[in-house]
Amino acid sequence: MSEIRKVRGFQDIYGENVKKYRYVVDTARRIFEKYNFQEIILPYVEDVSLFIRSVGEATDIVQKEMYIFEDRGGRKVALRPEGTASAVRAYIEEKLYTKGGYQKLFYEGAMFRYERPQAGRYRQFHQIGAEIFGVDSPIADAELIKMVKDILDNLNIQTRLEINTLGDFECRKIYVEKLKAFLKEREEYLCEDCKKRIERNPLRILDCKVESCKKITEDAPVLTDFLSDRSVERFEKIKEYLKGLDIDFVVNPRLVRGLDYYTDTVFEFITDKIGAQGTVAAGGRYDTLVKQLGGPDTPALGFAAGIERLMLLIDNIPEGKPLVVVIPVISEFNLQGLKVSQMLRNKGIKTELILKEGSLKSRMKLANKLGGKYVVFVSEKPELKDMSSGEQEIFQNLDDIIDVLEEKI
Ligand code: ATP
Ligand code: MG
Repeated sequence: MSEIRKVRGFQDIYGENVKKYRYVVDTARRIFEKYNFQEIILPYVEDVSLFIRSVGEATDIVQKEMYIFEDRGGRKVALRPEGTASAVRAYIEEKLYTKGGYQKLFYEGAMFRYERPQAGRYRQFHQIGAEIFGVDSPIADAELIKMVKDILDNLNIQTRLEINTLGDFECRKIYVEKLKAFLKEREEYLCEDCKKRIERNPLRILDCKVESCKKITEDAPVLTDFLSDRSVERFEKIKEYLKGLDIDFVVNPRLVRGLDYYTDTVFEFITDKIGAQGTVAAGGRYDTLVKQLGGPDTPALGFAAGIERLMLLIDNIPEGKPLVVVIPVISEFNLQGLKVSQMLRNKGIKTELILKEGSLKSRMKLANKLGGKYVVFVSEKPELKDMSSGEQEIFQNLDDIIDVLEEKI
């Protein structure tokens, strides 16, 4: 019979990779908790219109990347391509705004986008992300960026931080008209995708990776020249706070992000080490989105980071707890082996009882292969072997071995 294979763009994460995955998530989780964010577990399936109304009708995600299907009840649903839209929906639907003050949420999990698979780009990928609802102050922008930086620092990942401001809704409208006029004059030199984007999503053209488009937009009007005083002030404050926190950054006036909902602050943490897929974490403000989706007028901001991209940048993860391997020397000692293993585990020690019977030699080999740091031989005269030094010692009874191991580990 023919073998069934995984679907293109989807991956199994196992072995060392799953350790890296957990290391990334556990590290992020620790930092989120330090900043007093609360976890929210969001559904993987949402009404399609949620993404059309938030991410944006004309964006790549909505135009060509969503997994959309009709469920058996005839509902048109999508596998979530990102987390912010769901977080906003939940904020409104669960009336989190009635809890007073502001809300700081984090999430973790799979996202789905029908993209061309390559290193660092998959059709199912995973993100960690966080959102802050109900804070207008630029303190929040600075603190959010600092938190992302903390996560990256803790993972020992070097990146450069780029920031920009897209201005508020009003100044952006004026700018977009200017930009459109500029692009229309040069339409014939743009790539096919960008030609279509002039009307629908001209800002996105500034983010196009095609060389000829990059060249043309070099001389395009920049948003910075159209910003309102309020936007300029906010941006200045954020820069001041970041400097005060000793966070290096560059202002990239062409940084626009691929999603429609951003206002004012946008930022990306970028690396050159993994090719074109260089953005590892990205985010910004979206002050109009909550209202746009039917909630109360609520300023908000957030970020998301791709776990697989972070994994690509991690060389080694801290060693886990040392492994103790238990070998009953002959089968008469199997039950005792089971019991000793249990006692070790009760003490919090990572323990592998060799489950195969056979020659002592073959089971020692197995212990080695499993990466055992200590081996306990269960017999009338129990022994403990330290695999790194090779030292082996005979004990009066197993309890003494357990005591010694507890002390060492
Ligand atoms: P890109 O420009 O790389 O397509 P994006 O702007 O679409 O990224 P966002 O929607 O902001 O990305 O998602 C935040 C992060 O999620 C990205 O910075 C990246 O680390 C990760 N990410 C996005 N799409 C994918 C994907 N298809 N595969 C793996 N990771 C992804
Ligand atoms: Mg993308």
